[in-house]
Amino acid sequence: PGPAEKVRIRPALEALPAYVPGKPAADDGTRRFKASSNESPFPPVDAVRDAAVTALAGSNRYPDMAALDLREALGAQHGVDPSQIAVSTGSVAVSGDLVRAVVGEGDEVVYAWRSFEAYPILVGSHGGVSVQVPLTDTFEHDLEAMAAAITERTRLIVLCTPNNPTGPSLSTEQIEEFLDRVPEDVVVAIDEAYREFHDPATVVGTAGIFRRHGNVVLLRTFSKLQGLAGLRIGYAVAHPRLARALSQVTVPFGSSLPAQVAALASLRGEVQEELAERAEWIRDERSRVTAALAEQGWQLPVSQGNFVFFPVGEGSGAFAAFADERGLVLRAYGNDGVRATIAEQQANDLLIEIAGAWRRR
Ligand code: PMP
Repeated sequence: PGPAEKVRIRPALEALPAYVPGKPAADDGTRRFKASSNESPFPPVDAVRDAAVTALAGSNRYPDMAALDLREALGAQHGVDPSQIAVSTGSVAVSGDLVRAVVGEGDEVVYAWRSFEAYPILVGSHGGVSVQVPLTDTFEHDLEAMAAAITERTRLIVLCTPNNPTGPSLSTEQIEEFLDRVPEDVVVAIDEAYREFHDPATVVGTAGIFRRHGNVVLLRTFSKLQGLAGLRIGYAVAHPRLARALSQVTVPFGSSLPAQVAALASLRGEVQEELAERAEWIRDERSRVTAALAEQGWQLPVSQGNFVFFPVGEGSGAFAAFADERGLVLRAYGNDGVRATIAEQQANDLLIEIAGAWRRR
């Protein structure tokens, strides 16, 4: 037996699924493009990078633990008091804080499945019980079934919109109707990691929803459109009691100074304009890719994210390997399907080529 053989690790951890990150691109020419983690194909905007580099020079000091400058700016952007913004190392960390703040041993968390693969890990690692409600056959949230899954033990419900990895989003009306059926003591988190890629004409009005419902929390990230995945920063917009609870359970000094400063710089007007152009470019690429795939005969769920989902069922592993061999790294989800990030133009061209070759094989 090894030296740590007798250490007691909580048995619950044995049942947890592993988080499998997207494979990196390789420099041997086989996996030329990475389209497996829904990252931005663009590096951070220059002004944002410069701000982070400057902040790095002061890294002998701890960052502002309260991230006040950033929270003030985010509060202004969302029309809430800074005390209603909770920041941590990525929105996945904020989701973990939320679980720790409201879910006790044996309490239930309801979410759609498939959805973001961190949810079962966050819930299970804190002693909560996942109640996974299957998506509809068009890969959308089944809100009827989710409402029916609420019990006395339900403490948290997560709505992921647009849903990772399948792509469909919920409408403002759907969410409002759902919320009318949720008891006021149950927290509803709306995970909007991909919000900026949504068709602006139909994007869900979460600001209004948040104002109308005391149990709603919005989860946002700087990892996707803002291109700061490697810096790790995200936040919640929450009502004061819950925001305070999040700040109580979060890791002290979680978000680094360069991350806070970069996030703050991302909110500047001229940077926002550049990011809006990038979002539009990605939406245009998504349309181009989905049109080409439809031409090939593919029927994909309607995606409002920076990714598309191929519902290839048991062929998922083989399809991802097929793409891998042809230079494009995708992500397979068990026997459900394969997700491809809308990435740089050449990668998107390659995706179209590979998807066509797969159908003809
Ligand atoms: N929510 C969803 C739905 C996601 O897909 C992701 C990233 N894959 C996150 C949250 C996590 O983002 P962050 O990098 O901010 O932790």
